[in-house]
Amino acid sequence: MNERILIVEDELGLAITLQDRLTSEGYQVTIARDGLEGFEQAIRKPFDLIILDIMLPRKSGLDVCRDLRQRSCTTPILMLTAKGQTVDKVVGLKVGADDYLTKPFEMAELLARIEALLRRAGQPSAHLSETVQFGSVLVDLRRTEVTRAGHPVPLSAKEWQLLRYFLEHRGETLSRERLLREVWGYGATPSTRTVDVHVAWLRQKLEDDPKKPQWILTVVGLGYKFAE
Ligand code: CA
Repeated sequence: MNERILIVEDELGLAITLQDRLTSEGYQVTIARDGLEGFEQAIRKPFDLIILDIMLPRKSGLDVCRDLRQRSCTTPILMLTAKGQTVDKVVGLKVGADDYLTKPFEMAELLARIEALLRRAGQPSAHLSETVQFGSVLVDLRRTEVTRAGHPVPLSAKEWQLLRYFLEHRGETLSRERLLREVWGYGATPSTRTVDVHVAWLRQKLEDDPKKPQWILTVVGLGYKFAE
């Protein structure tokens, strides 16, 4: 909680109403009274969400949105516009707004949109590859789920951590000692045989032919490597 929200709105009454309500919901709210001030605030300070009116003095909401996106600002932007300006919706989404609300709106509707945007933003985005595929195996890192040819593959916590470590270090040769240290932790120090056993289990679950693994490869004398 305590997400930071920037409201860029020149109608003072509305800005204050929004600020009061959002503050009472536990958000930290900052108000900017025109487009230029809003733009400068948004690039100067980190916000979790920006509520951006379109019709603004000094710099329009559309320009603010486009310029922020050009500066690689990825903060979710919820645009506000007056009734009847439906053309703005298309343009708004084109310049990089995430959602859109027409004035006048119900506060409950605004709160629901805010929550949805913050929830979406809190999840790893697609380019951070939340899923990894190899062969017929699909790993959903966010949901901690693995399927093989569409069927769920149950993994123990250790198997999951080991698989995840392999995927994070694809193509690297990983010694048993390093895997023990990184996946099992210093405290545990079971024998390196533990690593072999877990690798064998993962191969059973994920490889088409566990005896001739295609993915979790043995690097003779050195350890293991996940195929690139
Ligand atoms: Ca306005």
